[in-house]
Amino acid sequence: MRLADFTTVRLGGPARAFARAETEDELIDAVRSADAAGHPVLILGGGSNLVVADEGFDGTVIQVATRGVTRGASASANPGELTAAAGEEWDGVVARTVAEGLAGLECLSGIPGLTGATPMQNVGAYGQEVSDTITRVRVWDRVAAEVLELPAASCGFGYRTSRFRGSERFVVLSVTFTLAAQARSAPIRYAELAATLGVAPGDRVDGAEARAAVIELRQRKGMVIDPADPDTRSAGSFFLNPVLDPATLAAVEAAARTRCGPDTRVPRFDAGNGQVKVPAAWLIERAGFTRGYNPGDGARISSKHTLALVNAGSASTAALLSLAREIRDGVHAAFGVTLTPEPILVNATL
Ligand SMILES: Cc1cc2nc3c(=O)[nH]c(=O)nc-3n(C[C@H](O)[C@H](O)[C@H](O)COP(=O)(O)OP(=O)(O)OC[C@H]3O[C@@H](n4cnc5c(N)ncnc54)[C@H](O)[C@@H]3O)c2cc1C
Repeated sequence: MRLADFTTVRLGGPARAFARAETEDELIDAVRSADAAGHPVLILGGGSNLVVADEGFDGTVIQVATRGVTRGASASANPGELTAAAGEEWDGVVARTVAEGLAGLECLSGIPGLTGATPMQNVGAYGQEVSDTITRVRVWDRVAAEVLELPAASCGFGYRTSRFRGSERFVVLSVTFTLAAQARSAPIRYAELAATLGVAPGDRVDGAEARAAVIELRQRKGMVIDPADPDTRSAGSFFLNPVLDPATLAAVEAAARTRCGPDTRVPRFDAGNGQVKVPAAWLIERAGFTRGYNPGDGARISSKHTLALVNAGSASTAALLSLAREIRDGVHAAFGVTLTPEPILVNATL
């Protein structure tokens, strides 16, 4: 069984063993057994943030297939509280919240994968992040061998990161969100989305309208999985937007003026603590990589979005990573900034 069949970029060699867990008990048992046998474990959700080596994974892959969504389980619970099992398809959960008049996840529409993976990198898009609404995460702690309820404050959420990312200690069992019980969306923060909706940033719109607009914007960028759209055979954005301190930003600005003209302004978003986030796509394009760039060995840049690296059908993971290295090195040579990958690389390095 090749892991390529379980990843959205359709790449990855075989696993030594594969188990599918449909209940929480099966999930915990599968992890416990692999841990007891000393086998490395790879928890698999929807495979939309994974780049697995052509050699595969020499351990047990455990596919999360648990189901169940509950609204405010206890009488005292907040009416906007919703708990979803790790194996629930994420966009189905978002669609349900919008249909039920709950606000806070609508801008995260159209993101592939499963709910249990969303805390891993604090999934975010169009001005919302799951950390805005997660109140607790239920986990299996592989070190203590017990189930824990972690309040959001102890999840270490940051930009595309959390205490879960890069640590294999916790298996997410379910995620609890506290949403606003209202049909209007949360305030629209993202300028591009506000412009599409014809409102000012900070305004609210009907939740279903926000969801539809986000999906349409994402489709235009090849960011909604669609078997009919070859640009969506990717792991989403391949690079994180770099967070720069003022001195590094000044150096990037100087390089940009030399490269692209004296009036060039480097786009940026406030990242707190005096730092700014610069769009990786802007740096990649200004470093000379165009949409659709194709070095010819099966991996190419999406024709819709510079940040997505696509398996054109015949790629290997080696080819995808080689393209990623070429882009990383090109951006570094142009701007002195080293881009880091957003997907989890399994048995592979950049
Ligand atoms: C077209 C496309 C668009 C995307 N757009 C966005 C976007 O807008 N914003 C964004 O943030 N991301 C985006 N992504 C990335 C990806 O969809 C998200 O990171 C998603 O949450 C990954 O979910 P998954 O179930 O597919 O996780 P997987 O890819 O299966 O796993 C990712 C990581 O999480 C771990 N993991 C998964 N489930 C669990 C669990 N229950 N417990 C412990 N560890 C677990 C895995 O071991 C792995 O390390 C996009 C990806 C694609 C392909």
